[in-house]
Amino acid sequence: MFRSTLVSGIRPALIVPLLVSGFMANAQAADLQLRLMQTTDLHMHAMNYDYYKNSEVNDFGLARTATLIRDARAESRNSLLFDNGDLLQGNPMGDYMARSRGLSYGDIHPMYKAMNLLGYDAANIGNHEFNYGLDFLIKSLSGANFPYVLSNVFTVDGDDDASNDRSYIQPYVILDRRVMDDDGQWQDIKVGVIGFTPPQIMSWDKGHLEGHVFVRGIVETAEALVPEVREAGADIVVAIAHSGIATSHPDGLKENATAELAQVEGIDAILFGHAHSVFPSEAYEGFPGADLEAGTLHGVPAVMPGFWGSHLGIIDLTLTQEGDEWLVSDSAVENRAIFRREGRESIPVVGSQQDIVDAVAEEHEATIEWVGQAVGSIASPINSFFALVQDDPSIQIVNNAQVWY
Ligand code: MN
Ligand code: MG
Repeated sequence: MFRSTLVSGIRPALIVPLLVSGFMANAQAADLQLRLMQTTDLHMHAMNYDYYKNSEVNDFGLARTATLIRDARAESRNSLLFDNGDLLQGNPMGDYMARSRGLSYGDIHPMYKAMNLLGYDAANIGNHEFNYGLDFLIKSLSGANFPYVLSNVFTVDGDDDASNDRSYIQPYVILDRRVMDDDGQWQDIKVGVIGFTPPQIMSWDKGHLEGHVFVRGIVETAEALVPEVREAGADIVVAIAHSGIATSHPDGLKENATAELAQVEGIDAILFGHAHSVFPSEAYEGFPGADLEAGTLHGVPAVMPGFWGSHLGIIDLTLTQEGDEWLVSDSAVENRAIFRREGRESIPVVGSQQDIVDAVAEEHEATIEWVGQAVGSIASPINSFFALVQDDPSIQIVNNAQVWY
């Protein structure tokens, strides 16, 4: 834009420098760097602790990932942090909270006590979020101090009219952010965020979901939604997909649809998960459409950072202004691990963040106590020494439990 009104009436000698600096500031801003960070599949591992062995571990735990998050944020002028779900279930603390202690409105789930300290910008829902039912899910989410999106799950409304279907949780959010460009000037950008969960939730958690919500395919949902998010003003669109990548799809609605999602027009970056694996990595050597050097799927930067907080996923975007739009002109993708392997040993490369440890300390101790409770007693020793020649009590007790269940 040319601010001619600002210089009208000023003596000619002054006009030239004002015009030049005005032109420089307005016509084309400098590029800007935007770092996207992702955690996924945390599965209740706020702590680097194994509740089955009653011991600390080095290869998982958000308390350690938090150190990577804070370091990566400090390195970058502009960053956003996202989570990709599967966080409420997965270890005894999850069961303790859902099945023993329970949540009332106003209670903050321990995962959110931890995550609320880390400045998440938005998050998506994984399939395991539905394991304890919708009531527990909604009570849990009410404790998060950041917005949730879920684009492909809708509320059952009892009619056959698709045009009035409403998302169970908001289908997208637009994050208005003031960021600093490479010249140190403030710029306002709008980051659209969409999120997807595997359609298979309808069979995996049928008892909780049937009659309440329904799903649509990940790719068809994205094809319909991305133009709407762009229309709503998003400069860039980030897709958080709780979905892996696969070369074949045995069921009709794709569970691992991220490679196809990458081919939907208008998505600038993909944060994915669900497969508990690391992308880019040699595990995906030869995967069609994957560039493991660039960290792209069909040209779109994409990252999957392991599971249980093992890694922090990072996508660094360079945005270039064209007209009044910001376009992604370059990207780099990396995963940072909280440990390194030495033979069979996991050696920590970062320490824990004390505020995260403190935030969940009470529930952590209560979980250890809960897991340690006696569940019954036996009158005689149980062993399997003679399993090949006579009835075996160690198998019998397991079978009895299975029959009971
Ligand atoms: Mn998972
Ligand atoms: Mg309807």
